[in-house]
Amino acid sequence: MTDDSTPELRPLLFAHAQDADLTKIDAYERAGGYASLRKALTSDREELLEQFLASGLRGRGGAGFPMGRKASFLPKPDQTTKPIYLAVNADESEPGTFKDREIMFRLPHALIEGVLIASYAIGAEIAFIYLRGEYLREYEIVRDALDQARARGLVGANVLGSGYSVDIVLHRGAGAYICGEETGLLESLEGKRGQPRSKPPFPAISGLYAAPTLINNVETLATLPAIIAMGGEEYAAIGTESSTGTRVFSLSGNVARGGNYELELGTTLRTLIYDIGGGIPNGRRLKAVIPGGSSVPVLDASEIDTTLDFDEMAKAGSMLGSGAVIVIDDRACMVQLGLRVAQFYQHESCGKCTPCREGTRWMVQLLEKLEVGEASQGELDLLLDVCDRILGKCLCPLGDAAAMPIASYVAKFRDEYQRHIEEGGCPFGGESSLEGVMAPVAQHHRDQRSAIEVPA
Ligand code: SF4
Repeated sequence: MTDDSTPELRPLLFAHAQDADLTKIDAYERAGGYASLRKALTSDREELLEQFLASGLRGRGGAGFPMGRKASFLPKPDQTTKPIYLAVNADESEPGTFKDREIMFRLPHALIEGVLIASYAIGAEIAFIYLRGEYLREYEIVRDALDQARARGLVGANVLGSGYSVDIVLHRGAGAYICGEETGLLESLEGKRGQPRSKPPFPAISGLYAAPTLINNVETLATLPAIIAMGGEEYAAIGTESSTGTRVFSLSGNVARGGNYELELGTTLRTLIYDIGGGIPNGRRLKAVIPGGSSVPVLDASEIDTTLDFDEMAKAGSMLGSGAVIVIDDRACMVQLGLRVAQFYQHESCGKCTPCREGTRWMVQLLEKLEVGEASQGELDLLLDVCDRILGKCLCPLGDAAAMPIASYVAKFRDEYQRHIEEGGCPFGGESSLEGVMAPVAQHHRDQRSAIEVPA
């Protein structure tokens, strides 16, 4: 994060994070922390759900579904004989995305407070935080923050004397991207192989242990204390009509000042990349931007006046996704980038359905041939055909996540793909650099293995 005084930044979630160590509960409470929980515990559950709806808050994990609507799909506690669960998706794994990591690292109590508010609103008495296995430091910080909150009567039996009891269970994942898909996450939490389920039934009706379950992302939940403090309508006045509030964007790639930046939704990509991120270093030229993590379609340099807004991004043919903005300069070979992206999704495919399992393998093989100049025109057409046979035909979004970016690279940078065929090799002649854009999958595996340590 940068200084809050940067004009385009709109710190709401990170409002007090520059001034104090908010991992300590005293500092968090001095900054107004847990006041929203106290307010929530004296409110009617329906009122809280109405505040969530009024805020217009859309999920910050990837799909952008309105959080209040999702919560309203669950049965009320008196309408079901089953327990109700909250599951927090802290399995942040989309390449380019590191904002939930910073929220857990610097604002663990905002996450815990959001979990408590949401749990109370839906009547959950157990909440699970499914935390990415590689995030060991964040695991330790959230674990310590939970201990502090328990000791202060904020988690456990009879929270703050309200009569409401809730426990929060912290669970480490084991390094599979697919466990960030909500039903894969539920399977993994139940101790099974992390493979997605068919939907319907949706988790709101039959989720964890076949009981009603609300699944929300870290940033979504960490935003709830601010919404309860200011009121849903006031929150909705920030941002744009359909994309309310602020969002933390992870800026990375070929940009001078990468990092996490909390911005009002509706800010342009140009402002983020040039005014906040300092532009493209070393006198290079902007070539492309991936606006929402590696799984979304790419935008070219002419499209950077698109606003960071769910609907405007959709109109431009892409998505806000996980909020990861990856900047690509003119040294990058888009065939090489396509190959790296395809290799990642091939490796992470759980193998449960044929179009994804087989299609990602075909994509990798065709892109390997294209990159070394051994592919024919027919094989470029075949690559697009394979993408088409994956899109919309898989059990979970991973298939689309693999096919959409590749199809977009070919659509937007077809000339580069053609040149690989016509010139019998990469036109960059070994000078292409994806440094800082996306690590090769072999390095990704090494990082994963070394990062999953046993906590002290
Ligand atoms: Fe598994 Fe891929 Fe099918 Fe998802 S789309 S269920 S990751 S094989």
